[in-house]
Amino acid sequence: MSVRTNLEEIYNKIKHACQKVNRDPSEIMIIGVTKYVTIERAEEAIKAGITNLGENRTEELTEKYNQLSDEVKWHFIGTLQSRKVRDIIDKVDAIHSLDRLSIAKQINSRSNDVIDCFVQVNVSGETSKHGLSPEDVVPFIEKLAEYEKVRVVGLMTMAPHIEDKDKIRQVFKKLAQLKTRIQDNHYEHAPCQFLSMGMSNDYEIAIEEGATHIRIGSSLVGPE
Ligand SMILES: *Cc1c(COP(=O)(O)O)cnc(C)c1O
Repeated sequence: MSVRTNLEEIYNKIKHACQKVNRDPSEIMIIGVTKYVTIERAEEAIKAGITNLGENRTEELTEKYNQLSDEVKWHFIGTLQSRKVRDIIDKVDAIHSLDRLSIAKQINSRSNDVIDCFVQVNVSGETSKHGLSPEDVVPFIEKLAEYEKVRVVGLMTMAPHIEDKDKIRQVFKKLAQLKTRIQDNHYEHAPCQFLSMGMSNDYEIAIEEGATHIRIGSSLVGPE
C-alpha cells in the first residue's frame, strides 16, 4: 500500500472521530513514526505531505535527520538516556518522553533553545512502560521550573496493547484530566496545552478523548 493511500484512510478516520466529538481535524498533528522503515519509505511519507516524523532511537533519528529534507520536524518519542540527549537536542522539535530530572538537566545544559517537551505518564501502570505515575506528575513538573530550557507543552502516554476499547479510553481520559489539572495551575514553564496519545491501533479513541498529537507508524508507513 502506498503511504498516500494509507494517509487518505487515516484522514478519513480522523475526520470521523472529530465529527463524533465536535472537534476540528486541523487540531490534530500526525506524527509519522518511521522507526521501522527505510529512508525511501520515510521519503514517501514526506512526499505524501507528512512533515512531522517520530523516531524512538537517537541513532536512527540522527541517521534519518542527516538524509532527509530539512523541512522535516523531528519528534523524539522513545526512551531517552540522559547521556544521549546531546546527540539529538539540536535536531528535534519536541521530546515526547521526558520522565526524569536527569534528562531535563541534560537538555538544560546542552541546548541553546527552549525545547518543547511532553512529560510521559504511565497511566495504565504496566511495569513494562516508561513514564511517571500519574500522582508524581505535578511534583515533577514543579521541579522542572528551574530548568529554563525545558518547556512542558503537554503530556504523553501509551495505552496498553489490549482489545478492550473501554479500558484504552479510560487511559486517555485520565491523561486528559491530568492535563486539565496542570493547566489550572498556570505554570509559566508548563502551559501543558497538548496531549500526545494515540497510535495505529487506538488513535480514533485518543482523538475522541482530546489527543492533539497522534503518533502513527504501522498504519501509515507499514506493509508496503
Ligand atoms: C512505535 C511507536 C509508535 C507508533 O506505533 P504504531 O502502532 O506502529 O502506530 C507510537 N509511539 C511510540 C512511543 C512508539 O514507540
